[in-house]
Amino acid sequence: MVVHGYKGVTFQNWARTYGCCPEMYYQPRSVEEVREVLALARQQNKRVKVVGGGHSPSDIACTDGFMIHMGKMNRVLQVDTEKKQVTVEAGILLADLHPQLDKHGLALSNMGAVSDVTAAGVLGSATHNTGIKHGIMATQVVAMTLLAADGTLLECSESNNAEVFQAARVHLGCLGVILTVTLQCVPRFHLQETSFPSTLREVLDNLDSHLNKSEYFRFLWFPHTENVSIIYQDHTTKPPMSSASWFWDYAVGFYLLEFLLWISTFLPGLVQWINHFFFWLLFSRRREHSQLSHKVFTYECRFKQHVQDWAIPREKTKEALLALKATLEANPKMVAHFPVEVRFTQGDDILLSPCFQRDSCYMNIIMYRPYGKDVPRLDYWLAYETIMKRVGGRPHWAKAHNCTRKDFEKMYPGFSKFCAIREKLDPSGMFLNAYLEKVFY
Ligand SMILES: Cc1cc2nc3c(=O)[nH]c(=O)nc-3n(C[C@H](O)[C@H](O)[C@H](O)COP(=O)(O)OP(=O)(O)OC[C@H]3O[C@@H](n4cnc5c(N)ncnc54)[C@H](O)[C@@H]3O)c2cc1C
Repeated sequence: MVVHGYKGVTFQNWARTYGCCPEMYYQPRSVEEVREVLALARQQNKRVKVVGGGHSPSDIACTDGFMIHMGKMNRVLQVDTEKKQVTVEAGILLADLHPQLDKHGLALSNMGAVSDVTAAGVLGSATHNTGIKHGIMATQVVAMTLLAADGTLLECSESNNAEVFQAARVHLGCLGVILTVTLQCVPRFHLQETSFPSTLREVLDNLDSHLNKSEYFRFLWFPHTENVSIIYQDHTTKPPMSSASWFWDYAVGFYLLEFLLWISTFLPGLVQWINHFFFWLLFSRRREHSQLSHKVFTYECRFKQHVQDWAIPREKTKEALLALKATLEANPKMVAHFPVEVRFTQGDDILLSPCFQRDSCYMNIIMYRPYGKDVPRLDYWLAYETIMKRVGGRPHWAKAHNCTRKDFEKMYPGFSKFCAIREKLDPSGMFLNAYLEKVFY
């Protein structure tokens, strides 16, 4: 055996909300080394979990079997400037991919809020951003290779193993080890971000107009208030521009927020006031800045949190948000941190994409963990999930939820097709873990 495994490694996700102690931990450098780990797992009847950036806010990446960390398989393999496509090893962090793309005059057309995540990881959980003419990140994939449980190397694309491709672009980590990913890029571009204050009523009454006005439109609602911050992000040719006060306000604001949220764990009534105050402090004025696209798409997430983020049919946005607001008003003891982040995504044809066959609205709720302290959230979580289910929602795969196979069978028209592909590629369930057992059994 060439690849060396480690015992006694502890894995924790970014938010430190889930962790595990894998029996063996591997960091392979080549396909052959990954193959060796799978052969050993087959021999010893062990389960295998591949981990990317470990940013999923659930136990989707946890295992007590073999863990494969892909951090050493992180090269850019090929850049085709003509087709604007890049082929990368699956463990590359987006943070390392951006400068390489930049060098070739290319960029990703859209991405989530952080770059310390891997190419295969963002596909595994159906990572998304916003933009009703943009799909989830998996829609940027034109080809992939994966190593199945029996050690077979599979290439897939629209024209090669098309059925596997339709499943593997949102793979949940259960189809095999993703080795390479080819992404369709766009020419390098700058974005201008403009944010301005509004109200929940205004934004819900004029949703279509906002969606038409800005390519990457989203809004933040401050629960327990009427306040909304609207954010437009659009292509610009203006030179990069950021305001010093912007940085200063956010840096100071967020340290103060963590302290106040910690105080509110003793005085929950304070949360309403905090939501009003921080809207006034940080979001009540119009602001603009422009930068290279990936710098505008991402932001520095300052402290740990619990989140839920379901995709609902776009036309249910108003009904769902008003229901959430009414629930909070009817239950004054229920506490909700800001913001509720509302984003929009184009429908696609990927079997387990939460946007399968429908344009969607993602509604992300958040409860921070000030100085690592959990704030009671179960009532809020349950009320949110009940509303999301009622309006036909599908949970984000990376974020903790209470759904099981029965729910997914109802939510996803292609669920049984995905299951059949999974069972064919991994008949013994080598790539399952506790999270995935709830999904498939
Ligand atoms: C601060 C923060 C901000 C975020 N913002 C957003 C956002 O804006 N939008 C959004 O949708 N999500 C967001 N997320 C969630 C994040 O994008 C997803 O959790 C994403 O999957 C993380 O990528 P990762 O590389 O860390 O994957 P991991 O968490 O390591 O793994 C995710 C899944 O992919 C599998 N996997 C990883 N690599 C491989 C491989 N090579 N082969 C097979 N399976 C593999 C794992 O087994 C697991 O099932 C955010 C998370 C955090 C912590």
